[in-house]
Amino acid sequence: MRRRSRELKAGGRSIAFVPTMGFLHEGHLSLMREGRRRCDVLVASIFVNPAQFGPSEDFATYPRNMERDIALSREEGVDILFTPDRGEMYPPGFQTYVQLEQLPHHLCGLSRPVFFRGVATVVSKLFHIVEPDVAVFGEKDYQQLMVIRRMVADLDLGIDVVGGPTVREQGGLAMSSRNAYLTARQRPAALSLNRALQQAAGMVAGGEREAARVVAAARDLIESFADTAIDYIAVVDPETLEDVPVIDRPVRMALAVKVGATRLIDNLALVP
Ligand code: AMP
Repeated sequence: MRRRSRELKAGGRSIAFVPTMGFLHEGHLSLMREGRRRCDVLVASIFVNPAQFGPSEDFATYPRNMERDIALSREEGVDILFTPDRGEMYPPGFQTYVQLEQLPHHLCGLSRPVFFRGVATVVSKLFHIVEPDVAVFGEKDYQQLMVIRRMVADLDLGIDVVGGPTVREQGGLAMSSRNAYLTARQRPAALSLNRALQQAAGMVAGGEREAARVVAAARDLIESFADTAIDYIAVVDPETLEDVPVIDRPVRMALAVKVGATRLIDNLALVP
């Protein structure tokens, strides 16, 4: 992969990169299109990264379909699909990790203590292998996008990190490979995440400034559905991810909810 990248760059071609864990959906494909628009060559990767899963999480059952992913990548004009295996990425003796000091101590990092260390480590490995000019990440994983931006700035990686808007199913559910876990009966509960965010945006547009009231209304809406367990609902500073009590400037609302055994996340800008 690195040899191919260096050849392409020596030939003056720019490289866009979209890292994924596969089981591709329209959200991933939209990022590929964004990469295509920005660079001469489009590289995507598929790697279900064991380092970002906790011991009781779904690494073993994470949905996979390499054949379909290869076909979809071809259709989207991916020039190189990089699919390293676990042993190549984490050979015996592996012991070097990338860890951020502050951003992981909010939102998803609280219930997934190894997650951002795993993400930052694998993405920095992938960046060193692919050496892209531009990397595209989804706003659906807002905290992850902030972590990658921070890491690239802090470590002087010189990569332009582009965020792509969240692609949603009809009804508003943010697309996710994990939506495959949901049963038909759980779908209405899954829709409550986006509904709660939309309700919050409406409250703020209507003049509400107290984050606690916005969060409480979201909590009520989500808990009105059976089979939901809220991990967090937060109104945060869009850069530091610290809680914002009074919405007197643009903020980010983010939430994580378990619907049955499936953990879903979503987020939205709230603009007073
Ligand atoms: P994943 O395969 O879930 O690790 O995601 C790979 C990339 O796709 C990440 O940058 C995600 O933020 C992005 N992504 C996942 N779901 C969506 C979505 N519904 N809309 C936009 N981007 C997404």
